[in-house]
Amino acid sequence: MSDSVAAWLILPLGIALGWYIRGRGAEGAGSGFGATGPSGMGDDRPTAEAMAGISNLVVDDPDQALAALLRVGEFDSQAIELHLTLGALFRKRGEVDRALRVHEALVERAQLRPDQADRARYELALDYLKAGMIDRAEQLFEALSQRGLHVTSALESLVSIHEQSHEWRRAIDASRRLQAVAALPRQAITAQYYCELADEARRAKNSEEALRLARRALDEDGGCVRANLLIGALLEAAGDRVGAIKALRRVPEQDLRYIPEIVEPLLRCSEAEHQLPEFLEFLQELDAEDTVSVSVLAQARLLKETGTNPARFLAESFAANPRWALLEQLLQAIEPPQDESMALAMNTLREALRIAAASRTRYRCTSCGLAPGLLFWHCPSCKTWGSVVPADDRLTPVKI
Ligand SMILES: [Zn+2]
Repeated sequence: MSDSVAAWLILPLGIALGWYIRGRGAEGAGSGFGATGPSGMGDDRPTAEAMAGISNLVVDDPDQALAALLRVGEFDSQAIELHLTLGALFRKRGEVDRALRVHEALVERAQLRPDQADRARYELALDYLKAGMIDRAEQLFEALSQRGLHVTSALESLVSIHEQSHEWRRAIDASRRLQAVAALPRQAITAQYYCELADEARRAKNSEEALRLARRALDEDGGCVRANLLIGALLEAAGDRVGAIKALRRVPEQDLRYIPEIVEPLLRCSEAEHQLPEFLEFLQELDAEDTVSVSVLAQARLLKETGTNPARFLAESFAANPRWALLEQLLQAIEPPQDESMALAMNTLREALRIAAASRTRYRCTSCGLAPGLLFWHCPSCKTWGSVVPADDRLTPVKI
């Protein structure tokens, strides 16, 4: 709910609140609530004056309106609904303290039915979450989910809490439970949590555990590109380049868009194992549009191995297929001319192109359009998992 909608709701809510409290005969509700209209005490409908007073109270003095509401002695369904609506409205307006007071008062009421008490607890948990009281929110969500109440929403909130606090094992547990109750496919996200654990183990220099967790991610989701990239990096670091090549070659089978991510490690490993021709063959078999740059780069490496400068080959390939990756390699391969002034001009041009190449869009989130400079597995903007992919490598003409 947007703030403008929340503001629009205030007036009718204030009227309903005043009507209800006046009907219940609440004492000491303030001048607006206690006003007796021209129609006399026997009329249940609030007068225009009372209605105006109430709406003013909610808008101008919400604390007094709150105090009046919380003084109501006996609760019926209407009163509970009013509390819940007003509490949710306060939270959506960012007035978390007031929302907490409403929902805490509701939860403390002994006469609530179990389903009403659980709904109030759920709302209270949302307040705690918004107020940054994560431990309390987590306790309530956990209790609700254990009892099978508001279970989908509670588990979604728990997943979000564990993601934010990087508690990946707990996120895996909540994700599995959510998948079971909501019948939602969450294997791809659960695999990302295993990859997060694998990354943690890798940073802690525990390669064996990192490898085990990355393989566990693949068991969870056979399409997990990140797991194969991780396995490739771990095996290469451990000196098992043949194993790394095997893992990296699986990436195009999973998702062709991630081919640019395997180029460098695959070239490195293939070169070291004298398997560049096999790598080229592998690319030709893929026969995908995205393999143009990779294929050219591999051929350029082969030329270099035989002592030939690949600049001419790269220039021709770039002319046929203008790709950023090719331009970057071409800039590296060009040798400065002998003539001093030509060398200066060439260096200036090379530097300008290098800056343009460095500032190009490298990645793009398919969910929100963010164009980050790094490959994020969890989009920092829209928080979607696995939505950031390498951007199109083609040089596009500037539109005027
Ligand atoms: Zn995004």
